Amino acid sequence: MNAEQKVISNLINDAKSIRSVEELIRYNTDGKAEAPTKEAFWMRLVLSLLSSQQRSTSSSLLDSFEKTPPFPLTLQTYETMSDEQVREVLKNFRFGKPVADYLRINYGRLFGNSNLWSIVEPELNRLLEQRNNPNSPDICHKNLERKVSHLLAEHLKGIGPKQSRNLLQWLGLTRYEIPLDSRVTGWLQENLGWYISRDSLGDPVSYEFWLDRVQSVCEGAGVLPTVFDAAAFERGKAMSTGKSLTTCIGYTNRNGQVVIRYTALPGTDHGQTVYQLGCSLCGHVYGANGSDIFERKCPNCQGGAAGLPLKLAIPDPMDRSL
Ligand SMILES: [Zn+2]
Repeated sequence: MNAEQKVISNLINDAKSIRSVEELIRYNTDGKAEAPTKEAFWMRLVLSLLSSQQRSTSSSLLDSFEKTPPFPLTLQTYETMSDEQVREVLKNFRFGKPVADYLRINYGRLFGNSNLWSIVEPELNRLLEQRNNPNSPDICHKNLERKVSHLLAEHLKGIGPKQSRNLLQWLGLTRYEIPLDSRVTGWLQENLGWYISRDSLGDPVSYEFWLDRVQSVCEGAGVLPTVFDAAAFERGKAMSTGKSLTTCIGYTNRNGQVVIRYTALPGTDHGQTVYQLGCSLCGHVYGANGSDIFERKCPNCQGGAAGLPLKLAIPDPMDRSL
């Protein structure tokens, strides 16, 4: 394994105890995907459009929209609604109005005269067959996954390279073509030093340049890209909890305490992770919760609270006193 593959492999080992990651690993090895209905496809289309237009800070709005039954824009309900009613349902979303327009256009394309659904459905079923094949997963599957992603991105309004992968992954049909969102690219920058600009992800060619690299490192590490995505997403989330600027490497707070690295060790506050800080006055190095960085004082020379450990407390097998 090369260095990049090793980093990915460590990420998975470290994150596989997180429930969402563990479930995804199980689903992708033993689980079978369900046949994609047009109702399920529509729901995921609505959510893909909303999530792409939504800043991560208001993801809770999207969460409750998705998880509070009944789903407000099922295909059946949507068909009975006026444009005004759709806009009303989406009014709390910052980009609710364009999404309402995209939905009207996409509904017409999918189920109106052009009947795009009659082309999409057989492709989804081919993905399902490949996904549930007993000899899967197989790296060759990415070819069909990419082809169907292109089909969606080319014909659906508001669906770009990221949203098309998001939609297919949500339907449980794909394992190699993943959505590269800002949390995942943040993780890649932090841990592999890949600088992926936000703009480049809107362009299909550069999107696939980065996705090819991710797939190749994952293959070398023996990790499915969709599992990597879930793990990096969780870690990216941990990294961005609290003030994101204050957890960037090199950030220096008003007391001269500098962020050295992210450790992935659990912190002492809810949902927090330990960062290694260094004191620019005396050189003391210690651990701190991400959320405390902005006001941290040096435990050595400024009377700050004691630092958090920078290593997991693993009992030493040579210690006879145990
Ligand atoms: Zn100090």
